Amino acid sequence: MDEVLNLYSDKTVVKQLLSAIDAVSICRPVKIMHVCGTHENTISRFGIRELLPEQVKVIAGPGCPVCVCPSEDIDIAIRLALDKGVILAAFGDMLRVPSPHGSPMDAKAIGGDIRVIYSPFDSIRIAKENPDKEVVLFCVGFETTACGIASVVQSSKEKNLSFLMSNRLIPPSMEFLLGVGDLYIDGFIIPGHVTAVMGLDEYMIFPEAYRMPVVSAGFEPVDILLGILMILKQIKDKNARCENAYKRAVKEKGNPKAKEMMTQVFDVVSAYWRGIGRIPRSGFILKENYREKDALYKFGVSKNKSHIDLHPGCSCHLIMTGKISPPDCSLFESSCNPQTPYGPCMVSYEGTCNSWHKYRRSKGVKRTFH
Ligand code: SF4
Repeated sequence: MDEVLNLYSDKTVVKQLLSAIDAVSICRPVKIMHVCGTHENTISRFGIRELLPEQVKVIAGPGCPVCVCPSEDIDIAIRLALDKGVILAAFGDMLRVPSPHGSPMDAKAIGGDIRVIYSPFDSIRIAKENPDKEVVLFCVGFETTACGIASVVQSSKEKNLSFLMSNRLIPPSMEFLLGVGDLYIDGFIIPGHVTAVMGLDEYMIFPEAYRMPVVSAGFEPVDILLGILMILKQIKDKNARCENAYKRAVKEKGNPKAKEMMTQVFDVVSAYWRGIGRIPRSGFILKENYREKDALYKFGVSKNKSHIDLHPGCSCHLIMTGKISPPDCSLFESSCNPQTPYGPCMVSYEGTCNSWHKYRRSKGVKRTFH
C-alpha cells in the first residue's frame, strides 16, 4: 500500500506536473479554492503552495466539518450528556471544539459519559453494550460521513440509540461563497472522497451557471497538482468544465447505492455553518419516518438560536471563507494553538490553522498569499 501511495508523491512526477503548470503560463493572478481539510493537510505538509508559480494561489475554504459545526449543536451534545445522562458517541476531533459553554472534553471532565468513536458503527456496539443507557451519536461531517451514518440509521435496531444530526453538504457552501462580495475565486478543487459517493453531477452548476472550473482531486501531492493543472488549463482555454482528476476512485455518477440510501434516510434542509451563517439546502436531517431516532425529538431539546459562534478576536469566519491565512489572525500560535485552541480552525487535523501550525517551515513564512 505504501508503495502505491509513494507513486503519488513521487518527486519525478511532481516535477513533471510543476513544469506542466509553469507551461500553462497564466499571465494574471489566479486564486483556486479547495474545500477539504485533508487537501489542506497535504498542501501544507508538502509545501505545495511554495512550489507553485507566484501568480497561482491556493486558498482553503470551509472544508473542515469540525470547524463548521455550530456551537449550538455542541452545546446540545453537552446538555444531552450532562443533563439527560446519555452516552455521547463522538469523533475524537469534536471533543476539544470550543463553545461558549465549554467543549465536550470539559463536559467529560465533570462526569459526562462521552465516548470517542472511529466509525459511526461504533455507536451500535456502545448501544448494545449499554442496554440500560441512552446512546446518542453526534453526527458531524460532510457527505462521506453522512453516508456511513445513513447506513447506521437504517441498519440499527437498538431502541436506545439516537442521532444528533449536524452533517453538512459541500456544494451549497461553494455556491454561497460565490456570492461573497470581496472574495474572488477562479476555480474549485473538490474533495475526491465526497465525489466518490455523490458523483460529479451536482457540481455541474459551477461551470454551467457560473463559468467556474471545478476539478475533483485525490489527496496525494500528485493528485492535487494534477487538479491544479486541470483548472489552470480550463482557465487558459476560457472553457469551464467539471472534471475528474481522481479517476481511480471517482465514477461520474458516484456510488448510486450509497446515494439512494441517503435519500431514504435524510431530508436536505437549510443549515447553519459556524462562522459562515445559514446556507440554503446545506444540511441533512432525519426523515419523518426516522423521527424516533432523532435525539432532538427523543429528548425534547430545541436549538438556542441566540448562540454565539465566534469568541471575541477569533478570525475563524475569515479563515473558513478563504479571506485570510492563519498567520493573519493575531491569535495564531499565541493564545490559539493546538494545545489550547481558541477557535475551531485550530482543533482538528482538518482545520486550516491546525495544518498551518503543524507544517509551517519557518516563522518567517510570508504572512499572506492573497
Ligand atoms: S488562530 Fe485560532 S482564533 Fe485565529 S482564526 Fe485560527 S483558529 Fe481561529
